[in-house]
Amino acid sequence: MRFNRKIAILGATGAVGQRFIELLQNHPWFEIEVLAASERSAGKKYKNACNWIMNSNLPNEIAEMSVVNVDLESVRKAGNVDIVFSALPGGLAGPIESELATEYPVFSKTSAHRMDSDVPLIIPEVNPEHAELIPIQKQARGWKGFISTDPNCSTIQLAMTLKPLMKFGLNKVIVTTMQALSGAGYPGVSSLDIIDNVIPFISYEEEKMETESQKILGIFKENRISAANFIISASCNRVNVKEGHLESVFVQLDYDPNVNEVEEAFRRFRGEPQKLQLPSAPETPIVVRDEPNRPQPRFDRNEAKGMSVVVGRVRKDPIMTMKYMCLGHNTIRGAAGGGILSAELMVTKGTA
Ligand code: NAP
Repeated sequence: MRFNRKIAILGATGAVGQRFIELLQNHPWFEIEVLAASERSAGKKYKNACNWIMNSNLPNEIAEMSVVNVDLESVRKAGNVDIVFSALPGGLAGPIESELATEYPVFSKTSAHRMDSDVPLIIPEVNPEHAELIPIQKQARGWKGFISTDPNCSTIQLAMTLKPLMKFGLNKVIVTTMQALSGAGYPGVSSLDIIDNVIPFISYEEEKMETESQKILGIFKENRISAANFIISASCNRVNVKEGHLESVFVQLDYDPNVNEVEEAFRRFRGEPQKLQLPSAPETPIVVRDEPNRPQPRFDRNEAKGMSVVVGRVRKDPIMTMKYMCLGHNTIRGAAGGGILSAELMVTKGTA
């Protein structure tokens, strides 16, 4: 199957916006049409508005594009857009995304609408059926378009690993994160704060991990989502790593599977993106490493071009049932790559 969709990126100059641009180069279905950012950048050529921090070169045709403002009128004037990706700061994204959704499908990486009861919070392998909220949302809000959100970067990799454990009866989850610097955007945390240091606080991150996981793993029934009923406690830390969040996870399960059964559940986990062979779908969403000292951010974050979550150190726990480490690339699976995969899923289903 082949689809053609023209894309606008809001927050195109930021850490996630740049990753969207990088991942959309040579995408088989999606083509970048509009780049939008703050008033500081609007009117400038992209190469003059942005400090490009990707390892790849800034593509010439992108460098020469003009950046526009993030409002509906500016996006409409700048091109013939089919889909909007939003990578704006969460605090200001709410009204802007709502305005754009009157006309366009908006796939948002921001926290603004994630917990709205009629907005799906999607990980394509985990809860694609939550997209059934979209017609309900469109009708309730009278919009031509809609808002679909992706979870917070640290939540995505956690929820992907919890999903295959649900069959063992998931009761309680304790997670401690070691989160990369790029998760704080660009320029993000000051070097003098983070060199030789760990910061044991990330604003609102623990709350997001706790509430979002329960929504994602909840059940869509009678036109609404009922939150999953496990208890979860998160503790979040910023560490001196450029990319890739590492998480230490403890789970209490109703059943008492052995390590092999849990590893097998991770290894066999597949979802709709794999069945539909979506362009950005990794063959194996969860990769299990056997070595005692993996996963590590530097070695494992680019597994399947950053789209797989890497699990290791699966072992029995004397207090809970099981414990393991998981690692995900925060600006790829945790941000732009996850957003593109959601859009691919909805385009395939005729929703976007
Ligand atoms: P960032 O590097 O700080 O980029 C922010 C972007 O928003 C820039 O393009 C900036 O444009 C634009 N912007 C800032 N103020 C604006 C305003 N008043 N009006 C319009 N545009 C404005 O942040 P980021 O890390 O890319 O994060 C973007 C969003 O994704 C956030 O909501 C974040 O929570 C979420 N997220 C981030 C990650 C990650 O790993 N970084 C992962 C998942 C989700 P200018 O350059 O013109 O200022």
